[in-house]
Amino acid sequence: MFERVVTLCIAAGFVGAKGFAIDASLIATDANACRSVPGSEWSHDINPEATRAVADYLANLDDPAWGAASEVIPKFVAPADPAAQWTSALRDAAFFAYANNYLIDVEHGIIMDVEATRAIRQAEVGATETMIERTELRFGIKPEWLVADTAYGSADNLGWLVEEKDIAPHILVIDKSKRDDGTFSREDFVYDAERDCYVCPAGADLPTNGRLRDDNAYAYLASVNDCLTCPLKSQCCPKSPQRKITRSVHEAARDVARAIAKTEANETSRRLRKKVEMLFAHLKRILRLDRLRLRGPGGAQFEFTMAATAQNLRRLARLTARAPPTIVSASVTSA
Ligand code: SF4
Repeated sequence: MFERVVTLCIAAGFVGAKGFAIDASLIATDANACRSVPGSEWSHDINPEATRAVADYLANLDDPAWGAASEVIPKFVAPADPAAQWTSALRDAAFFAYANNYLIDVEHGIIMDVEATRAIRQAEVGATETMIERTELRFGIKPEWLVADTAYGSADNLGWLVEEKDIAPHILVIDKSKRDDGTFSREDFVYDAERDCYVCPAGADLPTNGRLRDDNAYAYLASVNDCLTCPLKSQCCPKSPQRKITRSVHEAARDVARAIAKTEANETSRRLRKKVEMLFAHLKRILRLDRLRLRGPGGAQFEFTMAATAQNLRRLARLTARAPPTIVSASVTSA
């Protein structure tokens, strides 16, 4: 039903297919926090009456949107709905939630895809790939650009968008290389692509040792001799004998995102991103979907998809509605 409504929106010309926006919103689950157990003590055998939700949880253990999203044992588990995530991301008091992910076309705010995931960032960001691939497969539409908040600015996500999908990322880069202690940040070093090395502010080379690290980055090291005799050492690496810089394998994609961030088009797209936030606000305040009625990943996906269908139908009706013909009142006619 959801796909039929999107197809209607496309046929009516309400999908621009140029710019998409993506975001996630947390929706509380039907799980009682008082009956939760510490994650380290929970086992799927301890609550046999919650069969469907537990079976749904077990069936999705290897799914990157669910069990495989993180190996960290959650602080608390709701035995009635073990796939729900204990989170304090929204409120003062923590609660059990699922993440509702929307991919929208920014022209008229049509929801192109919807995906329920665990309420953790890795799963939400991972939904980018799922929803963009599915939209391309189902409707033959791939956006030219995608806007999202900084949470989506990981090197892997930007690399996938730019290198594999040729989609321009209007997303701020997550960059942990900036230093705030007054010493040089990585941006003070110039990358020489031809020689594959960085050049430091003192003019020395930092070649790579060629070993790929666990974080998908290469290390570039200055020579100890250069650093020990360098007049800039106190501004560069005061606590170590030599300076080290890391460079992601997706650094070229990160550079594309950095360049887009400086353009006027990026200002426009950031304003358009608000449309997805407005859809979530409408979902919670008007459709009153601030708490799920169904349990398990399947239940969450069903409710989120139904709600997205209703929102698209409402948008379609508003975009196609004609004003009713003016009715001339009897008194005016008789006059
Ligand atoms: S300390 Fe080393 S890396 Fe830093 S500026 Fe001096 S020579 Fe270059």
